[in-house]
Amino acid sequence: MKIVCIGRNYAGHAKELNNPVPEKPVFFMKPDTALLHPHNPFFLPEFSNDIQFETELVLKISKHGKHIAEKFAYKYYDEISVGIDFTARDLQSECKSKGLPWEIAKAFDQSAPVGDFIPIEQFKGREISFGLKINGEWRQQGNSRDMIFGFDRIVSYVSRFVTLRSGDFIFTGTPSGVGKTMPEDEFELFIGDQKLLSFRVK
Ligand code: MG
Repeated sequence: MKIVCIGRNYAGHAKELNNPVPEKPVFFMKPDTALLHPHNPFFLPEFSNDIQFETELVLKISKHGKHIAEKFAYKYYDEISVGIDFTARDLQSECKSKGLPWEIAKAFDQSAPVGDFIPIEQFKGREISFGLKINGEWRQQGNSRDMIFGFDRIVSYVSRFVTLRSGDFIFTGTPSGVGKTMPEDEFELFIGDQKLLSFRVK
């Protein structure tokens, strides 16, 4: 399976990183080795001094598809969860300033913890609120209504370039409020009031 991640999908986050609001979705990928096994801690990697959390809704692809029309895209995902797109911001800034790809800042081991998936059907097209608590305090809260590109547009756009397969994940971008991850932080991730993931940082 593969993990596709959308960048700059909330105006508030684009602004906090001084990025322009994009006219088309921006995406990159992480390998399956970026997943964090359940009940394992997240280990801060030695190559960065600024690992930042980005809390994002995550779609699970349910059907093989290429060149998916936006109006049929809803048929290609049926479950949703919430995850962290861990980012080595110091390495990413260096890559960006040199015009280089971001992989070392985004695709490293354990950089994509994802929670338990729940059927998307229960939201019936309604907005989906989500958030991150660290050590019991809200640090990021977002809502799907604030996305620049919605789920269907994302699935359709990505599938023009990359075939989507059942079991692939799509991280749909972070709202504002990203921040630095510290040792011993206790992460808890929610959709609405359902806690779908928790782990500790080491
Ligand atoms: Mg992100």
